[in-house]
Amino acid sequence: MSATREAAVEVLRRVFGYDSFRGEQAEIITTVAAGGDALVLMPTGGGKSLCYQIPALVRPGVGVVISPLIALMQDQVDALRNLGVRAGFLNSTQDLQTRRDVERAFLTGELDLLYLAPERLRLESTVQLLDRAKIALFAIDEAHCVSQWGHDFRPDYLALSELHERWPEVPRIALTATATDATHKEIAERLNLGDAKHFVASFDRPNIQYRIAPKASANKQLLDLIRTEHAKEAGIVYCLSRASVEKTAQFLVDNGVDAVPYHAGLDSRTRAANQSRFLREDGLVVVATIAFGMGIDKPDVRFVAHLDLPKSVEGYYQETGRAGRDGLPSTAWLAYGLADVVQQRKMIDNSDGDDAHRRKQTRHLDAMLALCETVECRRVQLLNYFGQSGEPCGNCDTCLTPPESWDGTVAAQKMLSTVYRLDRERNQRFGAGQVIDILLGKQTDKVAQHRHDQLSVFGKGAELTEQSWRGVVRQLLAQGLLSVEGDYGTFALTERSAEVLFQGRKVNLRREPEKPARLPSARTSSPAKPAVELSAEATPIFEALREWRRNAAREQGVPAYVVFQDATLRQIAAVRPGNLQQLAGISGVGENKLARYGQQVLDTLAELV
Ligand code: ADP
Ligand code: ZN
Repeated sequence: MSATREAAVEVLRRVFGYDSFRGEQAEIITTVAAGGDALVLMPTGGGKSLCYQIPALVRPGVGVVISPLIALMQDQVDALRNLGVRAGFLNSTQDLQTRRDVERAFLTGELDLLYLAPERLRLESTVQLLDRAKIALFAIDEAHCVSQWGHDFRPDYLALSELHERWPEVPRIALTATATDATHKEIAERLNLGDAKHFVASFDRPNIQYRIAPKASANKQLLDLIRTEHAKEAGIVYCLSRASVEKTAQFLVDNGVDAVPYHAGLDSRTRAANQSRFLREDGLVVVATIAFGMGIDKPDVRFVAHLDLPKSVEGYYQETGRAGRDGLPSTAWLAYGLADVVQQRKMIDNSDGDDAHRRKQTRHLDAMLALCETVECRRVQLLNYFGQSGEPCGNCDTCLTPPESWDGTVAAQKMLSTVYRLDRERNQRFGAGQVIDILLGKQTDKVAQHRHDQLSVFGKGAELTEQSWRGVVRQLLAQGLLSVEGDYGTFALTERSAEVLFQGRKVNLRREPEKPARLPSARTSSPAKPAVELSAEATPIFEALREWRRNAAREQGVPAYVVFQDATLRQIAAVRPGNLQQLAGISGVGENKLARYGQQVLDTLAELV
């Protein structure tokens, strides 16, 4: 083992309390510790922080971390201080005196890590400050913020390309959890990382169980998921609009679930308070628009639920990735229905921007729909989307309860010819509700009013239920065999519809379960590395440790996971160490935490006997 690597392993054990590196951490850390540049693409929960924290501790000088997540800097720094690492941050939220104190600590060699908001680097005063001390490395976190086409673009990130000109000797490491090839190239180019070593990890998150369910009554389905699988656990629920965020949060509270809303329409104080409660408390649910979540490094988020269809697979993957950073079994659950497709198409039609932009959005939506309608393993499909391969996983809904595919050619023909006849014979356009009523032969007022019972297709689709017809429509939309238009989501044929109507093209469809099947929960079916499964005796011990942790965290005003993560408490509950030395052997118990909390943990255990 090289001396650099040995030093890195020593820090890993002593400071962080872990025995070995994960994945490519060792190579990344030795590259940067030896003075080389690195570009790291690793999924959320993959362990990116250690990749710059350890080299910063091994190299002389201060590691400077550029991060856009101002609201989370305090927590990041608190977590490091709890490990005994000397960390500080500089951003616009601080008063002058606090800033001066941090600057002085930086200059007098009392810091190992300094977190900086990117806009501070634009100030000449900051550049001069950095010039006056030794810098160990620059870490550029959330590096995809440099990508102009991505969803998190920050103009200040563009200026980071100058770091290398100003400090050519200082190694740089850029990190992101965004996986597409396009973003990867853009980061390398814009940050001038041409000579950097690139590390692209597998983007698989084996501990996350992916499930996409047909939407019936989304709020009730969500409540059922929480009650049966994730009672009293932390989770994030994503909705598209502020109104549905509010409504859903209220619905959960009315049904006894501890939940708070989060969206851009709330005043900033409420938003900050809700985020802080989510980070600090053990089992809170946040109902949010996508404005919530970037950089949230709470490790024990047990589920992420989407009540509306995400706009792209990238977005979906990033949002679901916030579940299970700690590697323990977690659920990503999405409810998706016909109305989602209609709404998203409408939003694209009405969006600002040119045709190229609309085409891009359409491509994103089509990929998302393909994921929803697949009869293959969801995980394989996700990995393929990011240019990686995989085997059927056994931990997604299509693997656990394989959907059947059926020959939907006749159903598709009936559906499309109804749309065709309305258009050609009546010069009329209608949406899903009316077209399905016609096929089912329903005598409604609207049918009478338009004399749709006179159509030759009236009542010709009675062999399928209304729900099945909605499934047929959704899949025809997803396959581009039918399109929706205008504010009312009316149907129109596409060029490819003719292939089905007149040229005998076969249409394969996914069979909709009449009642969504109940799956084995993430907890029992996950092939993820065995979380310490708690025995009957260990469970009350774990609960007692959580109670102790809650108090310890509250006293210091830090999130509970900053004291110890669930995975560590579970292991303590299972092993029941009798002295400090045994406690030190548990993963996640480093030197500083042992000194700080060791005796309290032993006392808590002793009281239980
Ligand atoms: P990312 O920033 O990539 O999302 P983190 O750096 O937050 O991931 O790490 C995710 C989790 O994995 C954290 O709880 C962290 O403590 C843990 N972790 C990281 N590296 C290791 C390791 N080598 N051994 C054990 N746990 C690790
Ligand atoms: Zn699968």
